[in-house]
Amino acid sequence: MVQDQLLTIALSKGRIFEQALPLLASAGIQVHDDPETSRKLILDTADARVKLVIIRASDVPTYVQYGAADLGVAGKDVLLEHGGEGLYEPLDLGIARCRLMVAGRPRAPLDRRGAQGRLRVATKYVRSAERHFAAKGQQVEIIKLYGSMELAPLVGLADLIVDLVESGNTLKANGLVPLEHICDISSRLVVNKAAWKMKHARVTGLLEALRGQVAAT
Ligand code: ATP
Ligand code: MG
Repeated sequence: MVQDQLLTIALSKGRIFEQALPLLASAGIQVHDDPETSRKLILDTADARVKLVIIRASDVPTYVQYGAADLGVAGKDVLLEHGGEGLYEPLDLGIARCRLMVAGRPRAPLDRRGAQGRLRVATKYVRSAERHFAAKGQQVEIIKLYGSMELAPLVGLADLIVDLVESGNTLKANGLVPLEHICDISSRLVVNKAAWKMKHARVTGLLEALRGQVAAT
């Protein structure tokens, strides 16, 4: 029976889980475990045919790409880095909103050419940063980091950073300012391409329930 097919949804704990929870609940997927306190990585839901897998944000597209999860919730920042192979991205959930920005010290140079050498840009978002500076015709040296990008300009590791900004308070607390807006970010529903075909009725049923809820909020 098609309606008995199990659906697995991958998402990360923290802000995405918290903000996805009411949307999922409105689609009949109430979650009883709290990933912040439970050590379980696979959570049952009120719908016996739906399970959640709790993984690192940047791993969500990979799980969905390989079909280890049928669906996922991932930030556009993470999807831009992943590239989106093997996935459909049918719905902007409008949650975990922030902006991808270039930041640095006040009056940091945004361009440097020739003998002065290239600007150094520290970021976790290598692809997006490369694309942004290439579109401006600017050659920069990208330094890949995995966390605390704000530190890099303070200790002379980089001239600029590319990072997510919500309120700007983290930048401010470290004496940095936003300098250029790259793009707006929100979390998207992603679907494995094979699951889209093989579990079409179930996937589109959930998609439409979520779409209705997003439109209503
Ligand atoms: P990890 O801690 O595993 O390296 P992470 O730090 O990217 O992952 P979170 O901080 O929970 O994990 O961010 C998850 C997603 O939430 C991001 O990919 C992004 O889409 C979004 N996000 C991150 N920071 C903010 C923010 N300040 N405001 C709103 N959304 C954000
Ligand atoms: Mg984080």
